[in-house]
Amino acid sequence: MSRVYNFSAGPAVLPEEVLKEAAQEMLDYKGSGMSVMEMSHRSKVYDTIIKEAEADLRELMNIPDNYKVLFLQGGASLQFAMIPMNLMKNRKAAYIVTGQWAKKAYQEAKIYGDAVEVASSADETFSYIPDCSDLPIPEDADYVYICENNTIYGTKFKTLPNTKGHTLVADVSSCFLSEPVDVSKYGVIYGGVQKNIGPAGVVIVIIREDLITEDTLPGTPTMLKYKIHADAQSLYNTPPAYGIYICGKVFKWIKKMGGLSAMKAHNEKKAEILYDFLDESKLFKGTVRKEDRSLMNVPFVTGSEEMDAKFVKEAKEAGFENLKGHRSVGGMRASIYNAMPIEGVEKLVAFMREFEKNNG
Ligand SMILES: *Cc1c(COP(=O)(O)O)cnc(C)c1O
Repeated sequence: MSRVYNFSAGPAVLPEEVLKEAAQEMLDYKGSGMSVMEMSHRSKVYDTIIKEAEADLRELMNIPDNYKVLFLQGGASLQFAMIPMNLMKNRKAAYIVTGQWAKKAYQEAKIYGDAVEVASSADETFSYIPDCSDLPIPEDADYVYICENNTIYGTKFKTLPNTKGHTLVADVSSCFLSEPVDVSKYGVIYGGVQKNIGPAGVVIVIIREDLITEDTLPGTPTMLKYKIHADAQSLYNTPPAYGIYICGKVFKWIKKMGGLSAMKAHNEKKAEILYDFLDESKLFKGTVRKEDRSLMNVPFVTGSEEMDAKFVKEAKEAGFENLKGHRSVGGMRASIYNAMPIEGVEKLVAFMREFEKNNG
């Protein structure tokens, strides 16, 4: 067996320990005589799995009691619709557009009401986070929406926007559990788990209870109502049961690693190794304004498309996978999520140094 260093933006690297444990439990989960994939989601065994997953996540993120944790399906993208359908009471919301995912959410919200773009960094290919200290947020806006870590462009909100008292909704797909967060500052935090937590197919929504109401937009399907899922504790219908089980294992792995502060230190160390190299390199250069750099997704370029392609090809041959940038921006991108070991980044930088020497 040989494992590569996988720098994919998502689905992405998972802790090897978790994969091994899951492999061991594949045929017989804790004496049940079956795989978690094969068991009823109403069984006692499964009930323990989902309850423990929620309890561990609550502990890790220090989630206050007045927030619900929902394990849903449809990816992060379905939330682009679920959020307005459930939260747009005045049919108005403010969107901060810092990349493609934020833009998609903004465009989807327009189907349901008056989505207002209050800030954008499109003018410089989303390479920075706009000043959000005094935005023209409409008084009757139901919420302010951000994509907290921009997976494609490699930017991250280091301070949350001043929402002027409005509910903050954040897509944290690509920075979920990468550092401590103050959940109480948000109305909704959500993310697809395939970037930093588990297998694709699960989206986790952490939502303040007062935002969960019967009062959704007319025509909202039953399956898209937060209240239905909250009342049923994520078991209204069959949940993505196996995916949730793996998420639960990753939560336990993060706890064992020391929780979110330890994760942050580990992620800062990795990011520093890579950014320091990019700052000194004559061949490679980072594309993001320094103060807005993401700890998770690190885009970089050589300035020549041919050289970029040569690098990606040679890197792949050397065991560094998925370094090609998003199809919309080109260049390279190294995603260095929680489960990427420090050696992975150290070896990548050593490889980049060598490549620079040979191609400088
Ligand atoms: C990947 C990603 C999405 C889309 O996730 P899906 O689960 O494929 O719908 C949305 N937002 C962000 C920030 C992402 O990184």
